[in-house]
Amino acid sequence: MAKQETVEHKYVYAFAEGNKDLKELLGGKGANLAEMTNLGLPVPPGFTITTEACKAYLATREEPDGLADQIAAHLASLEQAMGKRLGDPEDPLLVSVRSGAKFSMPGMMETVLNVGLNDRSVQGLARQASGAHAQTSGGADRFAWDSYRRLIQMFGKTVCEVPGEEFEHALDDAKRAKGTHDDLDLDADDLRGLVDAYKKIFFKHTGREFPQEPREQLDLAIRAVFESWNAERAVLYRRQERIPADLGTAVNVVAMVFGNLGPDSGTGVAFTRDPASGAQGIYGDYLANAQGEDVVAGIRNTVPLQELERLDKKSYDELLGIMARLEGHYRDLCDIEFTIERGKLWMLQTRVGKRTAAAAFVIAGQLVDEGLIDLDEALHRVNGAQLAQLMFPRFRLDHEFQPVAKGIGASPGAASGKVVFTSARAVELAAEGESVILVRRETNPDDLNGMIAAQGILTSRGGKTSHAAVVARGMGKTCVSGADEIEVNVPQRRFVVGGQTVVEGDVVSIDGTTGKVYLGEVPVMPSEVVQYFEGSLDPEHVDNPLVRAVHRIMSHADARRRLAVRTNADTGADAARARRFGAEGIGLCRTEHMFLGDRRELVERLILARDNTEREAALAALLPLQRADFEEIFREMDGMPVTVRLIDPPLHEFLPPLEQLAVNVAVAQERGEDVAQEEALLAAVRRMHEENPMLGLRGVRLGLVIPGLFAMQVRAIAEAAVTVTRSGAVARPEIMVPLVGAVQELETVRAEAEKIIAEVVGDSGVEVLIGTMIEVPRAALTAGQIAEAAQFFSFGTNDLTQMGWGFSRDDVEGAFFWRYLELGIFGISPFESIDRDGVGRLVRIAAEEGRAARPELKLGVCGEHGGDPESVHFFHEVGLDYVSCSPFRVPVARLEAGRAAVETDGSDSR
Ligand code: PEP
Ligand code: MG
Repeated sequence: MAKQETVEHKYVYAFAEGNKDLKELLGGKGANLAEMTNLGLPVPPGFTITTEACKAYLATREEPDGLADQIAAHLASLEQAMGKRLGDPEDPLLVSVRSGAKFSMPGMMETVLNVGLNDRSVQGLARQASGAHAQTSGGADRFAWDSYRRLIQMFGKTVCEVPGEEFEHALDDAKRAKGTHDDLDLDADDLRGLVDAYKKIFFKHTGREFPQEPREQLDLAIRAVFESWNAERAVLYRRQERIPADLGTAVNVVAMVFGNLGPDSGTGVAFTRDPASGAQGIYGDYLANAQGEDVVAGIRNTVPLQELERLDKKSYDELLGIMARLEGHYRDLCDIEFTIERGKLWMLQTRVGKRTAAAAFVIAGQLVDEGLIDLDEALHRVNGAQLAQLMFPRFRLDHEFQPVAKGIGASPGAASGKVVFTSARAVELAAEGESVILVRRETNPDDLNGMIAAQGILTSRGGKTSHAAVVARGMGKTCVSGADEIEVNVPQRRFVVGGQTVVEGDVVSIDGTTGKVYLGEVPVMPSEVVQYFEGSLDPEHVDNPLVRAVHRIMSHADARRRLAVRTNADTGADAARARRFGAEGIGLCRTEHMFLGDRRELVERLILARDNTEREAALAALLPLQRADFEEIFREMDGMPVTVRLIDPPLHEFLPPLEQLAVNVAVAQERGEDVAQEEALLAAVRRMHEENPMLGLRGVRLGLVIPGLFAMQVRAIAEAAVTVTRSGAVARPEIMVPLVGAVQELETVRAEAEKIIAEVVGDSGVEVLIGTMIEVPRAALTAGQIAEAAQFFSFGTNDLTQMGWGFSRDDVEGAFFWRYLELGIFGISPFESIDRDGVGRLVRIAAEEGRAARPELKLGVCGEHGGDPESVHFFHEVGLDYVSCSPFRVPVARLEAGRAAVETDGSDSR
């Protein structure tokens, strides 16, 4: 056997064999338990079964060869370390069996506690609990039977899929019989009775007795944890959090320590800094005489951790010492779970803690001040999604809004919406476009769908570490937990607060920063971070740690990034805002909207023109209007490049819909009215109707077909640039031709444009560049030729994705992407984040071949991907010169461009 083991795969690691860098193999929990063990911290002994074992099991539904023997060997060492045997009738060793994946998935997978208890060892446990300590034997009996009933409940539900409510009903019955609401009032006899009831429930659903053999319990529990990797809620959570589906979970088998052995025992969760605001200090919840699951599930309300100082000063001081040590070691905020068993502190878990977006920035700034990390590392520790969250508005509160309840600000933000009480209803109403607030006593993993659909989550129970709080923070969703003035009645779909009844569909507002709850819809105001970007908060003088941290990290991102950030803007107002947000130019000014509104009539005249004279008259009327549009934008962007794209969409978009026009004409004819004009319009609309307008007469094709249209725009741009420059500002226009697929298209437009530009700019000093979008796959593949005629390329990744995949950008996301996501064909819509392998490859080819043909070719991107964090990293890698995105995303792109530089190019000492 021993000989065989040397060639076998190593599936089991003792804690002393691992370390924090082995998360992939040992999961986050296992790797960190190993790290703490090696730091000499008080961790109960145990071992970790690897994610490899899980993957092997899930592939075949059989334990891989050698696993059982390796578990036996490690169990033997564990028994030796503890001086007890698993399930020994006299003095049983009990173990917990816990999941732990590479990325934390709070509450999504399974845990079984107290494995090793059976009809005989429960007696031994009671004897040991009473003998070794100064507990009354009644208390020890109670503890032992309570532990046993918990095992049957958890094992039944987790391993054998017995419906959890059945156990809860039996517990409720026992409490009712006793005339109490509190399970602590149930004595040993009541719990013994409950164990009998639970065993009957177990038998009813499984057709077998509750397993008495400890090793069988252990093996089945391990198997159940493996299986829970693919539980529906875990799959859903992974999809939401973009966690790869093939990582598998590790399983930790740990000697049990008990927080429910009496008032000198307890369990808690703590953070080394406030995970909501980032403020320094000790934050956490403590629950005396309880097991860890009670805290996380928010079943009973906890007390603040500081209370522990009064209850057990020695453990409190030891805990604080360990927390300081962990922070220094991990150089980051840590969260921990601990248990105190009769005055002895045990560390059950630690990890670099999840935090809100605000806390991420504040803590990164603090750690730089404390000399624990440098600015590159600080930049690495925040991200664009967090920054985007901080740009959300907050409530504008004046005297007429009084909170009706106050809970814990568990996940910041401001959310208003219709109250719903079930996950299903949340999903239903959200699908109808409503904002909803999911209100529950506490949430559990089955509520995940509703939490995703809701604008915010409100619970009447549970602390900062309850399920609702942890999951909401992870999702960046507003959450108020533990608002205990609220009495939630789910079956009747209402809650009562301060004598008022709120029913499903009523509107409430919740503030996830202050924890306050308001009836009705509270108006909102912009975030401080936005005010800072807008220039109305001076970071050097404002006493706001968040604004200061954002300023510091953004400044570093700007210093480090190689990508410039421009904006997509087609009005002066958007341009001005984007400039305040740090845009360094306009990467896409779409000119389409400039042809709408009261200019429609001129466009109709252009389309219906019967001869050159009529057409030229329409264009001449449009020219001064366009010129004024461009003047406004050039003035706003004084000194910065402005890419103006010539008109793109199909012309029929400027005409009334066919059906409506046909009806109008028919009705007017019926009435005998003069309909000559409408008939001409109808004929034009019919003529221009296309089955596939996205692949039809648009972009450069339109410019080549309608004489004078592009020429008018080019003239307007050049004239506006000259006027602005003559007035003392600097206009730097770049004319961009859309939808080019062949160099000849561009050459034709360019030849005409150059003539007009030469004529208009004269000796004004204005320089006008001419370039093209690369948004048709053929353009990407012939970029070497196209670059001969273009001074710049701007990747239109919206169309490039549409035409690269053959997906109609207006239809497919709503139609069938859910199925593609479900099948894992892609993890995120390729319209949202660049498809590196396919569309990204087209970008890469075009960039390389374009630059080979013309080394000074300027390269940018102006599709939606320009503001997507993940895609920004890709564009950095490909070596583009700039990204362009909507004004609100400019700060996000700046930050991500800085992060990309630090991550791809390595750190420097700045
Ligand atoms: C694009 O296709 O990516 C682009 C920027 O152009 P539009 O979205 O206007 O088609
Ligand atoms: Mg396009």
